[in-house]
Amino acid sequence: MNWEENVRKVVPYVPGEQPKNNNIIKLNTNENPYPPSPLAAEAIRDYDAGQLRKYPDTNATALVDELSKNYGLKDENIFVGIGSDDVLSLAFLTYFNSAKPVIFPDITYSFYDVWADLYRIPYQTKALDKDFNIIKEDYLCDNGGVVIANPNAPTGVELSLDIIEEIVSYNKDRVVIVDEAYVDFGAHSALPLIDKYDNLLVVQTFSKSRALAGIRIGMAFGQKKIIDYLKDVKFSFNSYTLNPLTIAVGAAALKDDAYFKDITAKTIATREHMKEELKRLGFSFADSKTNFVFATHEKIPAEEIFKYLKEKNIYVRYWNKPRINNHLRISVGTDEEAKILINALEELLG
Ligand SMILES: *Cc1c(COP(=O)(O)O)cnc(C)c1O
Repeated sequence: MNWEENVRKVVPYVPGEQPKNNNIIKLNTNENPYPPSPLAAEAIRDYDAGQLRKYPDTNATALVDELSKNYGLKDENIFVGIGSDDVLSLAFLTYFNSAKPVIFPDITYSFYDVWADLYRIPYQTKALDKDFNIIKEDYLCDNGGVVIANPNAPTGVELSLDIIEEIVSYNKDRVVIVDEAYVDFGAHSALPLIDKYDNLLVVQTFSKSRALAGIRIGMAFGQKKIIDYLKDVKFSFNSYTLNPLTIAVGAAALKDDAYFKDITAKTIATREHMKEELKRLGFSFADSKTNFVFATHEKIPAEEIFKYLKEKNIYVRYWNKPRINNHLRISVGTDEEAKILINALEELLG
């Protein structure tokens, strides 16, 4: 027997391209176009590197305290990890231990099926309707757990809180994870529901709305019981995840609510303007409540537009996958970046 037969083989997730070149209009990975809060920069400047001699605080207390103040929770309701990818991956490992399939939409964050495969979790995808809406009834069934990105990625579509609640309530006997990576751009969080449902885990991140994708902070909110199970798995896996500099930067960023609201409002305003311009140029898209628009053009294939924009040093995201291979996911940048994008598209489309 060859040792390779024993290897845990996986097909890894493919993140968006990170070009080395700096003069690119980068609208391909939903990063925030603004820098993080000046308080985050100050925390980095003021950090005493001598502290790195010691192991970090495994509970990331300084960060968790600040999160609990910001979100009106207790520390026991909060779990933090290295980006929400880390949190979600641990959540899959923790809660999905059934022979029944975990369910999520056919078009959604493409890490979900990767984690399911990695951990040998059976799963089943449920097709979105032709407008990329979740069909609620598909989630009111026997299953091993539910994962919903809300708003969904890469579609940008928000599912109403009423329907989320119906799904959480119906699935009382298994965990429902709501991935809210984009919720701060004008959608409604399921966070208020955690008081009522012990099977609900709400996951958020600093990567998009707080402009800190590089520092890697994600968090999960839920009742003490569900959070404690997640902690047990985390502390059986790797105790020292968030480093002390990250903890300090995250806590500092949370103290600057005015800045957070300001950059979020700017992104929403640019998005709404971008929607009008894209419509004028013959694009259509479901209404986005995120920092990206998932658009298709009435005449020109998405792949052609993607290649054309890349030539012009404007990067957007394209997937050659069933059902979405005529769509582009375009991140909302600054007004200036949106203008360059629209001008380039105008040139192509006449
Ligand atoms: C970006 C994203 C994440 C992961 O973000 P992190 O940088 O790991 O916090 C999770 N879910 C969705 C739907 C995302 O788009």
